[in-house]
Amino acid sequence: MATLKEVLDQSVREGELYEKLDRGFVRCFACGHCCPIPDGQVGVCKVRFNRGGKLYVPWGYAAGVQCDPIEKKPFFHAYPGALAYSFGMLGCDLHCAYCQNWVTSQALRDPSAVSPPLQATPKEMISDALRLGAKVVVSTYNEPLITSEWAVTVFKEARAAGLVTGYVSNGNGTPQVLEYLRPWVDLYKVDLKSFDDRHYRKLGGRLQPILDTICRLHAMGFWVEIVTLLIPGFNDSDDELNRLAGFLVSVSPDIPWHVTAFHKDYKMTDPADTRPADLRRAAVIGKKAGLRYIYAGNLPGQVGDLENTHCPGCGELLIGRYGYLITDYRLTADGCCPVCGTSVAGRWASSFQGQITAYPFLPRAHRRLHLVNLAI
Ligand code: SF4
Repeated sequence: MATLKEVLDQSVREGELYEKLDRGFVRCFACGHCCPIPDGQVGVCKVRFNRGGKLYVPWGYAAGVQCDPIEKKPFFHAYPGALAYSFGMLGCDLHCAYCQNWVTSQALRDPSAVSPPLQATPKEMISDALRLGAKVVVSTYNEPLITSEWAVTVFKEARAAGLVTGYVSNGNGTPQVLEYLRPWVDLYKVDLKSFDDRHYRKLGGRLQPILDTICRLHAMGFWVEIVTLLIPGFNDSDDELNRLAGFLVSVSPDIPWHVTAFHKDYKMTDPADTRPADLRRAAVIGKKAGLRYIYAGNLPGQVGDLENTHCPGCGELLIGRYGYLITDYRLTADGCCPVCGTSVAGRWASSFQGQITAYPFLPRAHRRLHLVNLAI
């Protein structure tokens, strides 16, 4: 019976995001760590490794598949009401103590993180997505940057079927991986976890590569939305939020900023859960900085108007929401306010075609993806 590591070591192929160095080393470019890896060793993420002077990367499986309302990702300015077919693999380049997807992200790092991989082909996944009515296919759950070769292969199939594609990512990118993704990824959510490098180092990363990635994503024409999970006592000081919002405005005031409520998870059980008043305070800071679209998440019905989209010109209500449910939709076919004609930044369908579901669910066709023979 194989261990998880043995199974994953077989579920690989040679990567594309790397260069060969002297003495059998390789340098990986899939994330901002840019690991130099000697022969026989793994990168920081534990799932990309050097064997015989070649970089091998995860391939041919999904560790989780789920259908989500696109509002759960969250994308609020991209095809409201659409169903997003979400898939993930295993591993992450960070190790956040509050990770809500730790069972998949911390595989091979935390022995209690065990999520059996499902054998899957891109064709099977996309035919599942189409059968279920998905408009968007999203790489999420683990850090998609570190499994970009597989995500791009799935997205090529998705594009051929007329679907939109997206990443839900920590944003720890490199110029090389963004160039690689640009032809195949439409939507990109970045989890901007803090605006303090010392905080990022506690999570296993650095702030600067994430800021550089956000600037590049916007300049390269990805549709970008930013999420900050507001953790009391960790990243929620007025000073830090002011600097964070000021940075986003300097990239573009049209970038939607989601401030979402923390609840105790994984190894972070000390901070209090985020209160609605904390989210409102962050939203005021964002508004003052000049951001046009600020949303408060994870506390449906408790944050006043901060789940809705308003016209930045006249203030008219354009999209009403309760949690992931669209309750009102008034944008014109070309994404403008019907009252004053102001254009609203985003990727809009020509009409709102209803919402298939406001709840995440496992695809019925999940059984078509076969369990890898795995024992641990
Ligand atoms: S994805 Fe990041 S952490 Fe993993 S090997 Fe590549 S550079 Fe290192």
